[in-house]
Amino acid sequence: MSDDIEAQAQRLIQRGEIERALALAREALQDAVGVPRAQALLALADACNSAGRFADALRAALSADALYGELGDPVGSSEGLLRAAAALRGAGDHAAAVELLERVEQQARLRGDEPRLAQALRHIGINSSVLGRHQHALSCLNEAEALCRRVGTAADQLQARLSLLNAHNREVEALPPHDPMRQRVLSGLVPAWQALADDCAAQDSLRLRAMSLGNRAITLHGLGRDEEAAAELRALLPEYRALGMKPNEGLCLAEWGHCLLALNRPAEACEQYRAALVVLNEGGTAEDRIAALEGLAHAEEALGDTAAALAALKQVRSLERQSSADTAQRAVLRRELRIELARLTSQWAREATEDPLTGLGNRRALQAWLVEHLPRVERGESLALVLLDLDHFKQINDRFGHGVGDEVLTQVAQLLGEGCRGHDRAVRYGGEEFVLALAGASRDAATEVAERVRQAVAGHGWTNVSPDLRVTASLGVADATEAAEPQALLTLADKRLYAAKLAGRNRVIAAG
Ligand code: GH3
Ligand code: MG
Ligand code: MG
Repeated sequence: MSDDIEAQAQRLIQRGEIERALALAREALQDAVGVPRAQALLALADACNSAGRFADALRAALSADALYGELGDPVGSSEGLLRAAAALRGAGDHAAAVELLERVEQQARLRGDEPRLAQALRHIGINSSVLGRHQHALSCLNEAEALCRRVGTAADQLQARLSLLNAHNREVEALPPHDPMRQRVLSGLVPAWQALADDCAAQDSLRLRAMSLGNRAITLHGLGRDEEAAAELRALLPEYRALGMKPNEGLCLAEWGHCLLALNRPAEACEQYRAALVVLNEGGTAEDRIAALEGLAHAEEALGDTAAALAALKQVRSLERQSSADTAQRAVLRRELRIELARLTSQWAREATEDPLTGLGNRRALQAWLVEHLPRVERGESLALVLLDLDHFKQINDRFGHGVGDEVLTQVAQLLGEGCRGHDRAVRYGGEEFVLALAGASRDAATEVAERVRQAVAGHGWTNVSPDLRVTASLGVADATEAAEPQALLTLADKRLYAAKLAGRNRVIAAG
């Protein structure tokens, strides 16, 4: 079923079956159109983000945004942009992620869409926190948390609190070690992590609970309460193992090592650091392994084994080299994602104002043209519109087929384009209706242009398209001295066009 494809993909992702989630989303995408297609794109973006394929995730997410835009579903669009921001964050481009999320935030505020607003704010908070914009991060996360309490699911609320506490942690980490503020914030965080862990347990969110308790223990270590911290970390280890949380297990072991080292028990610390490295070598980041190896070097040194300490430091250096190569690679990825983002954004801007069949501007392009040019009328410039409607076009479709109809529209568009000069603009206003917007043209001048266009259409070599094909058009002309508002000007031109139809078609009417 395509209608819950996102939920299905989410379940697979939660279970760690990312490849299956990818396959499911790709399959759902095949031949899908409209809403099911947009949903499949969201699922694909989720799966790609989880697989670390951020460029693919960005493309899928932005396509979903564009498709929901066409479908007139702003909530769906926001869902697409939230996933695009997740891709940028995954690639380490936190600043670009914030930019995108602020767009979601603005739109959600305008709509009064609190669930999307809460998500946007939470992710702005997480990215800002990583960027070191702590105050901004905390204010976004506080608002997100308050919103989640009102409109979020229980899981959303726990996530929001976790993000908020993490941001407090990051803020404290940025402070110098003896800053009194550090002690104060850390002391407040101990019961906050405990409360979150308890609430997670009540909601059966065991992974979040284990993470919260791990963070509580790290906070205790930060306060110098190393005995307590060591005991808690030791108790947590079997839980991480049971839940299959490898990176957390490794970090927990390393943190236990730090506590033991601070308690001046270097032999036991060595043991935990070694255990940590075994786990982290499988699933940890280079930074995590570096921290464990540095701890190990300190512990070995304290034990008087300088050779072992040196060996650990050598490994640190090699990891640092590797991690700077990784950083360079990520910088390349970030550049690629930014280019992709810029390409897609300008493509949409074009698509939003362009008629795909004829390549002319559309109604929106005319609106923009009028907004730009109408003020010049007040400064004494003239401006006129010619509205053109093909005669008996329905019969052309019926008699020659839709393909010929399309070809007629395309060739009329070309004829109109050729009739444009300088700041003039030809647009496809609707099915078989076109507008020539003429800057600096009086009604007389516009009437001459309209007459030339009429003759060009009637005299065009249509028999090359189909032997018996004949095409004519009726045209109405109006200028800005008669009506200053865009809509009134168009209505007047339309009234004259209608008069041209009544008078027998294939003619121009510019008065009455
Ligand atoms: P009139 O002279 O009074 O304007 O008659 P008409 O048949 O041109 O007007 P009507 O509004 O009855 O029909 C317009 C037709 O244009 C109907 C619609 O199917 C056709 N049409 C609209 N868009 C397209 C298109 O993109 N391609 C083709 N082939 N036909 C189109
Ligand atoms: Mg029409
Ligand atoms: Mg017509």
